[in-house]
Amino acid sequence: MLRRGPDASVSSRQVAITVDDGSCADCVAGYAAFAQRTGVHLTFSPNGRYDRSWRPQARVLRPLVEAGQVQVINHTFGHPDLTRLTAGKVRDELERNEAWINRTFGTSALPYYRPPYGRHNPAVDRVAAGVGFDRVAMWNGSYSDSSLITPAFLLGQAARYFQPGTIMLGHANHPTVLALFDQILDLIRQRDLTPVTLDEMFNTRRPPMPR
Ligand SMILES: [Zn+2]
Repeated sequence: MLRRGPDASVSSRQVAITVDDGSCADCVAGYAAFAQRTGVHLTFSPNGRYDRSWRPQARVLRPLVEAGQVQVINHTFGHPDLTRLTAGKVRDELERNEAWINRTFGTSALPYYRPPYGRHNPAVDRVAAGVGFDRVAMWNGSYSDSSLITPAFLLGQAARYFQPGTIMLGHANHPTVLALFDQILDLIRQRDLTPVTLDEMFNTRRPPMPR
């Protein structure tokens, strides 16, 4: 289970910004534009249930994925609590989202998955590993923005958690973050941190796409 970067990421002052879900289409569009405009490396953990938010951004995101600036990991299709599902349903959730990611972004999420609500256990992890998702992408810093928060609170969370080796969790669910991208980027630069994808932080590669 991955909660923070390896020692090498601490010494090289890397941070991995990860962005989950996508229930807010404007927020997904804002993050896609932010990535395109700034070149900042990001990891998205989208759910296929929010296809209406993500698909319009595929044209912007695909070249960034191709270039390795943006990575996409598996967060399940429907965002259920996996610990409450049968093994077959856990497998379906991951495989259905992987197929959607293949189609939408032209990439694979393998071998990373992020359990919705951070809820997983050894049984869930075993099933996930059985379909290739053997890296559980947890986090050690968060904007705590899965529900609506104020700009001041979000910036306080950023100031608290952006440190070398942090895996930061954000959500594309509420627009608070949209007005704060430049301030967050200023903070990252002031601290001499380098935003990286999980592939870059953990020295992994995208597997070839299925044909
Ligand atoms: Zn989520």
